[in-house]
Amino acid sequence: MSAYPKATDQGWRRRVRSRVLRWYDQNGRKLPWRETSDPYRIWISEIMLQQTTVAAVIPYFDRFLQAFPTVESLAAAEQEHVLRLWEGLGYYSRARNLHRAANVIVDENQGQFPESAELLRALPGIGPYTAGAIASFAFDEPAPILEANTLRLFSRLIELDSDPQATAGNKLLWKFAAWIVSRKRPADFNQAVMDIGSQICTPEDPDCMNCPLMASCKAYEAGRQAELPVRKEKVKFTDVTEVSIALQNQDRFLLRQRQESERWAGMWDFVRFEVAAEDVRTLSFPTKRKRRSSDARGQKSLFDGPVTLTPLPDTIRSELAQRTGLNLSECQPRTEIRHVVTRYKIRLLCLSCEVDSDGIGRHPELEWFDAAELADLPLSTSARRFADLLVSEGLNPV
Ligand code: SF4
Repeated sequence: MSAYPKATDQGWRRRVRSRVLRWYDQNGRKLPWRETSDPYRIWISEIMLQQTTVAAVIPYFDRFLQAFPTVESLAAAEQEHVLRLWEGLGYYSRARNLHRAANVIVDENQGQFPESAELLRALPGIGPYTAGAIASFAFDEPAPILEANTLRLFSRLIELDSDPQATAGNKLLWKFAAWIVSRKRPADFNQAVMDIGSQICTPEDPDCMNCPLMASCKAYEAGRQAELPVRKEKVKFTDVTEVSIALQNQDRFLLRQRQESERWAGMWDFVRFEVAAEDVRTLSFPTKRKRRSSDARGQKSLFDGPVTLTPLPDTIRSELAQRTGLNLSECQPRTEIRHVVTRYKIRLLCLSCEVDSDGIGRHPELEWFDAAELADLPLSTSARRFADLLVSEGLNPV
C-alpha cells in the first residue's frame, strides 16, 4: 500500500530530489522549447505535446512559431489559419482553445501571461498539468505536474496500489507531485521526471538497472514494477460506418464546415454522415493494388483500379437530399478509409458525385472550393486523405 507523502519522509524526499536533478544535469534532453523561459513558446509546446510524441511535435512547433511568433499574432489570426497549421496533429479542440486563450491574454491581460499555476488555469484549454508546466518552466514556481509519464513513474515510486486514473489514486498522485517537486529547481525537476518516465520507467520493461531512482523506488524494492501502475479496463470500441461524399461541379468541391457541437469543430469536410453497415452492402470500392499516380503533394496514390458509376443506396440518397437538397441517383465509389476516433472504429466510405451547382439551395454551412483552395483549408486527417486522392486521380476518372 502506498506510504507517501508523509511529513516524516523528509530524508527520502531529499534523496529523490537530488538523484533526479543529478541525472538531469547529465542526461536531460535538449528540446527547442527547453531553451527558453518564454511562457508563450512553452505554452504552445505543452499544448502540442498533449497526446502527441516529441518527434511528431517538433516540425509543427517550428511552423507554428514561424506563423505566430507572439501571443498577439496568434490572437489576431483567423481560426481557420490556426486549424490549418494544426492539421494532422489531431485533438483540434487544443488549437481552438489556444486561439481563444490568446485572445483572452491580449484583451484582458494586455498580452501578459498570468504568472501562477492558479491564474493560468482560468485560461481556456489549460488544465492542472499545463498550468503546472508553464508555471514551473517559465516562472520557476514549484508547481506540481502529472501527465502520462510522471503518472507511471510516481505510481511505481510510491507503489500505488489503486488505479492512478481513478479519482482517489489520481488525487493522491497530485498530492505527491506537489510534495516531491524541488523548491530550488522546479523547472529542471519537472522536466527530469518526465524524461525519466518516458525513457527509463517505460510502460513495458522499465530499465530499473539504469534508473537513478532505483534505490528509492518502492515498486522495485517489492519486485512489483511490472504489475504497476494498476491498469484501468481496456476501452471497448464501437464499429461505425460513415460515408463521405465529395460533390463535384467541374473543378470545384462542395464542403461543409463542422459545427461547435461536432467533433473537429471549425474544420471543413465533405458531406459526411453515419449509415447502417447493411445499407452500403451494394457499394464496392477499387482495391489497393499498386502505387501509381502522384497526388497533389507529390506522394504516390495508394489506389488503383477503375472507378465506375454505381446506384446510390436509397438511405444515402435521401439523407443527402435532406442535407443538400440534391436528389442524386449515382455515385463513384472512390476509396475506403479505416480510422479510430476516441472509442469508435470508423469505416469511412468515400464517394464522389458530379452535380449541377444550380441544384443546391443556399445553405449556411456549405461552400464551394476549387482544388487550390482545398489545399489551404483545415481538413480532418481522413478528409485530407480523400481530398488528396481526388486531386491526384482527377475529378472524373471513369
Ligand atoms: S526503479 Fe524501475 S520501476 Fe522504479 S522508478 Fe526506476 S524504472 Fe521505474
